[in-house]
Amino acid sequence: MKNIIFFGPPGAGKGTQAKKISEYLNISHLSTGDILRKKLLDKDDLANELKSIMSSGNLVSDEILNSIVALRLKTEIYNGFILDGYPRTLAQSVFLNNFFTENSISINFIFNIQINFEILKERILKRSSEESREDDNIDVIETRYNEYLNSTEKVSNFYKENNHSVFYEIDGSQQIEEITKKIKKILKKS
Ligand code: AMP
Repeated sequence: MKNIIFFGPPGAGKGTQAKKISEYLNISHLSTGDILRKKLLDKDDLANELKSIMSSGNLVSDEILNSIVALRLKTEIYNGFILDGYPRTLAQSVFLNNFFTENSISINFIFNIQINFEILKERILKRSSEESREDDNIDVIETRYNEYLNSTEKVSNFYKENNHSVFYEIDGSQQIEEITKKIKKILKKS
């Protein structure tokens, strides 16, 4: 069984790689961004609140995220899973660690996909025309990137220090297939 976390700034290719690896290992891909975007379709009060937060590039509250993740992970703990976009804050990582301890599971692999901001900007703008995501425009990109630097990077650094043996840095500027190949090699080796 494999429990995996993907870290990296928005646009680094986490989602693409997480999807490919989830198909390769036949485990669930839990993208909190995708789960939240689906929720927006409900068009209720919560959806309206989420929409204004997400379209500005800010983070949704830990409370909402933790309950979404706990609910989804409960059905996956016997199969293994990939977390993509979570945890993004220290409070989320504390919640996740408690969840792991309570359910006697652990993290087997953490992939941190790194890429510089100029390449990110180009990629996100390309994705914006392909997927028409409201948060993929130049004004919002900087807010999302700053959320990453101010919050999520601290979380990945924390995991890097405390889970060093399962933490792998991945160069996100390479071609998609090259990156997938590297990740699969690490999965096979360990
Ligand atoms: P993503 O597709 O992962 O880039 O997520 C899109 C947006 O969903 C983010 O900019 C946040 O507004 C929200 N979001 C996704 N995951 C989280 C999380 N773990 N914590 C807070 N907000 C999140």
